[in-house]
Amino acid sequence: MLIVQKFGGTSVGDIERIRKVAKKVVETKRAGNDVVVVVSAMAGETDRLINLAYQLTDNPDMRELDVLVSTGEQVSTALLAMAIIELGCRALSLQNHQIKIITDSSFTKAKIRRVDAEKLINLLKNDIIPVIAGFQGIDENGNITTLGRGGSDTTAVAIAASLMSYRDDVICEIYTDVDGVYTADPNIIPYARRLDEISYEEMLELSGSGAKVLQTRSVGLAMKYNVKLYVKSSFIDGKGTLITKETQKMIEDIVVRGIASDKTQARITLLGVPDDQNVIIELFNSIAEANIVIDIITQTSSVDGLTDIGFTVSKSDFKRAFEIARKFAEKNGVKNVLGDLNIGKVSIIGIGMVSHAGVASRMFTALARAGIKVYMISTSEIKISCVIDEKDIEKAVKVLYDEFKLSVDPKSEIQIKSDSLNL
Ligand code: ADP
Ligand code: ASP
Ligand code: MG
Repeated sequence: MLIVQKFGGTSVGDIERIRKVAKKVVETKRAGNDVVVVVSAMAGETDRLINLAYQLTDNPDMRELDVLVSTGEQVSTALLAMAIIELGCRALSLQNHQIKIITDSSFTKAKIRRVDAEKLINLLKNDIIPVIAGFQGIDENGNITTLGRGGSDTTAVAIAASLMSYRDDVICEIYTDVDGVYTADPNIIPYARRLDEISYEEMLELSGSGAKVLQTRSVGLAMKYNVKLYVKSSFIDGKGTLITKETQKMIEDIVVRGIASDKTQARITLLGVPDDQNVIIELFNSIAEANIVIDIITQTSSVDGLTDIGFTVSKSDFKRAFEIARKFAEKNGVKNVLGDLNIGKVSIIGIGMVSHAGVASRMFTALARAGIKVYMISTSEIKISCVIDEKDIEKAVKVLYDEFKLSVDPKSEIQIKSDSLNL
């Protein structure tokens, strides 16, 4: 097989761990596989570098920020390649200008356009293990870019997808500090259950709703190119979780497969906006032009020709978005603009929602019973999200975990049912 193995920050957090990762890579290789490695910066390093920039200025130049933060991954590629060579295998560290991961020019959140996998195939033919820097890319003008926080997952999946044009035995393994995808963040719900399998669609919604175990875009890419994707632990052996196409059984199994929470969003509310479509479009156009992604939007019904508009953006974009909203308000005679950085979002996700009624009402009732106020709601076919106070996030996850009985393994429930039929 050709296995793309990605190791996250904690997995390469110190020299001892890098040695262990090297051992795993070499064992995989010696078992007769071809291995391509993608590696993140050592734990805490990206945060440290970002922090340095913000010590210098409140408003760092985004191109320079990418030059700075991409260095974290360069360090780990060199150390891991050395550790693999030390164990007697051939390895070569590669930065993204060397294997050409071409992206657009949206610094700090660039999107991959193409990957030149031919070089990797040639290295593999010569029995060399490529050790590639995750997270970084290069734009058409040769500038260094980065793919957004958690972006090494996306590097790994993009490389696996491009290798699939040359080989039909490619899989992608994401090694991290948990042994798979759980029904909720195991750091919030210690008794959460590991899932053997989850559909691409559900994983996409879980990640998009804040489960950082996989970067959302990595799941989108895996779904598009049908990449066989596993999440496994760097520290303990196990079969992990397979992210795969949905099956009929998955749909019938269970209504809510997982819960996610997200504390990275902030809310902006404009009170008394003229209820004129062109005016409202102007607001969202200005935000889009600043390359700021909006998550949830709400609009109240019109009273005396005025309406209230609320939307959420990531906390890191809040200052810029608030400034745009303030200027828009000034220009259009909007009464008031409010900002709230203390919100969070809790989401329930499951393909079974498509065929089960009453899920939303159960969610709202459970939150209300726990005294948790809901400010905004958004839904997709297989997800319901509520914006609540950040301080209530952990409580909300626990309440919903119990309400939807996520600790019950659906397989064992089916077993009990068939036993009782036999009686
Ligand atoms: P890495 O540094 O390896 O990329 P991350 O910190 O980005 O690791 O992702 C792993 C973390 O994701 C876990 O430590 C866990 O706290 C968090 N997480 C959130 N939701 C889930 C979930 N549903 N299943 C597993 N882990 C989750
Ligand atoms: N080092 C980057 C980050 O911390 C990318 C990654 O870990 O995937 O966000
Ligand atoms: Mg990560």
